[in-house]
This record gives sequence, C-alpha cells and structure tokens, in this order.
Amino acid sequence: MNATNGSKKPKTQPEHVKNLILGSGPAGLGAALYTARAQLEPVVLAGPEFGGQVSITHIVENYPGFPEAVGGAELTELFKKQAERFGARVVFDSATEVDLSQRPFRVKAYDKEYLADTLIVATGATPRHLAIPGETEFTGRGVSYCGTCDGFFFRGKQVVVVGGGDSALEEGVFLTRFASKVTVVHRRDELRASAILQQRATQNPKMAFIWDTVVGKIQGNGAVQQVDLENLKTGKKEAFKTDGIFIFIGHTPNTQLFQGQLEMDPGGYLVANRYMETSVPGVFAAGEVADPHFRQVITSAGMGAAAGIQATRFLESE
Ligand code: NAP
Repeated sequence: MNATNGSKKPKTQPEHVKNLILGSGPAGLGAALYTARAQLEPVVLAGPEFGGQVSITHIVENYPGFPEAVGGAELTELFKKQAERFGARVVFDSATEVDLSQRPFRVKAYDKEYLADTLIVATGATPRHLAIPGETEFTGRGVSYCGTCDGFFFRGKQVVVVGGGDSALEEGVFLTRFASKVTVVHRRDELRASAILQQRATQNPKMAFIWDTVVGKIQGNGAVQQVDLENLKTGKKEAFKTDGIFIFIGHTPNTQLFQGQLEMDPGGYLVANRYMETSVPGVFAAGEVADPHFRQVITSAGMGAAAGIQATRFLESE
C-alpha cells in the first residue's frame, strides 16, 4: 500500500462501514470471507497491486486443496469470488492517509473517505532492493523483482539471481524455462531455502551458483550487460556478463501509513498478538505486514481469518 499522495482530496462523502480491510492478498481476502459471513459487509481496498505478491506468483504448490497446484492470479480470483459471495465489496482503490486516534477510524483513499468501526490491516510487504549503482536505472531494462512477470523477456538469455532463500531458488528454477542459464549469486556459501527447492535448483542443469559473493554494481548500455561481483572471502572482483538480474533478497513491510499510530517492531512490521490485535483496539493486522517469519499463502490466509473473527467479536462485545 502506498503512503504517498495523501494530499489528494476524496470526491464524495465519507462512507461509514463496520469493517474496512486494507489489502487484497490472502490475508485481506481471507479476513473478508470471515467478516462477510458474519454480515459485517466488509469493504476491501485492494491496494496498488490486487492480490498482492501471490497474484504475481506463477504457480502455488503449497496451498491445501489444490493437489495439482494453482496459479497465483487464479487463486486470488477464487479468494475474491468466495468473499464476494457472502457480501464483501472489493474496491480498486488505495488508502492514502489513516487516522486511528478515535473510532470510527478515518481512512482516506484516492476516490473516497471511509469511517470504519473496525480496521484490518493486510497491506503486505514489498520486495527489498539492493541499493547499488545501476539498480534503479536499469529497473525494467534487465533488473527485475519478479520472475513470473519478466521471465518471458529472457528467452535464450543468461540471467543472474541474487539471494539464497526460497524466493531466489523458486524463481530461479522458474526462470530456467526461458533463460539459457541462471546463475545464483549468494552472499554466503549456504542456502537458506527449503530442502526441496535446494534439491530442485542444484539438480537443474541450467542453474549455476556463485558463493560468498555480492553484486556491487549493475552496468549496461540501455539494458543490463554486466554485473560487478565481489567475493567476500577472497576480495576478488569480477565483471560478469549477463542479460538480466533478478533480485530476491527479502521484503519490507508496507507500514508507512501507520507510522506513529500502530506499534511496530524494529523491522517496521506491525506488532500483533495471537488474536491479531494491534496496539489500537479495533485495529487488527494479518499477513506479511505483521509476519516476517512464515510468509506463506496459507499462514497469511489463516491470519486473515483470525483477524476477521476477532473484528466480529470486537463489535459483538460492544
Ligand atoms: P529470505 O528468506 O529472507 O531470503 C533472503 C535471501 O536474500 C537470503 O538468502 C539473504 O542472505 C539474501 N539477502 C538479504 N539481503 C541481502 C543483500 N543486501 N545482499 C545480498 N543478499 C541478501 O526471503 P525470501 O526468499 O523472499 O523468503 C521470504 C519468506 O517467504 C520465507 O519465509 C520463505 O520461506 C517464504 N517463501 C516460501 C516459498 C515457498 O514455500 N514456496 C516461496 C517463496 C518464499 P542470507 O541467507 O545470507 O541471510
């Protein structure tokens, strides 16, 4: 969810809702399913990316009920359809400003202002950047944060993947469908990714690994042509020819809107207890915005369900 452009004025009168949900990933739509079934008529502000991170994931293999896997975008549509069946309303708008100092909570979006008796924050997280020279300049011209979105552009080409976690290996293996070679550059000599992904990646003949190494600079002429590598153990520097670089080094929670209003941990993630309650009564958090640890579709959807149940109980207790 984008915190910018808070100055834009909503065009209509505020709408008073019992339950407002920020974010349309598995957490937001999971919450909507529950508050809709509790007849709170939830409004879901979809945010800048409908469906969140899973919607741009090619294949989801670990969400129960889909033994043959399901596409990320398809799963998002199914979540939406199911919540809408019970009365949830998904609005393609993003919150720009929130005031949680009193109830009903005030949430401004681009098109409208909302007054919400309860709020569920499910704004997710955004891929982290390396912050090296060339990264911004070549984004969209060889620098990418999404294999599913951009892999097709690298047919028959060579790409570098940065990171050693599940995302790096999962996306790296996916990229071998298009690229002739995928070289994973990892800053340590040990992967953090799960065993099954490690096995798939290391056994893939199109994948190679460069260990203990970081990318210091991205260079090219109009598009990426080279990355400058440095081995952290030996100090050796190398110019490595590549057509693209895919960066999967973790995420930053989308909590800028709530600075100074909701308690956060040192990483900027919302602090929520096991009932999904935040530091403000009536405001609940679900999914990756409050979870730097599990970050799965199933756990996010589960947190969303829990937040929805608690928001319902909160209103009932009044
Ligand atoms: P992650 O697990 O935090 O891994 C990030 C990787 O990037 C790590 O290997 C880390 O190195 C490296 N890294 C971080 N900052 C770096 C920097 N500045 N320069 C170079 N390398 C850097 O993130 P993730 O892979 O996105 O996964 C996030 C969560 O989602 C995890 O819980 C994961 O299990 C889950 N996930 C699951 C699946 C699945 O189940 N199929 C798929 C994708 C993600 P170090 O190892 O040295 O720290």
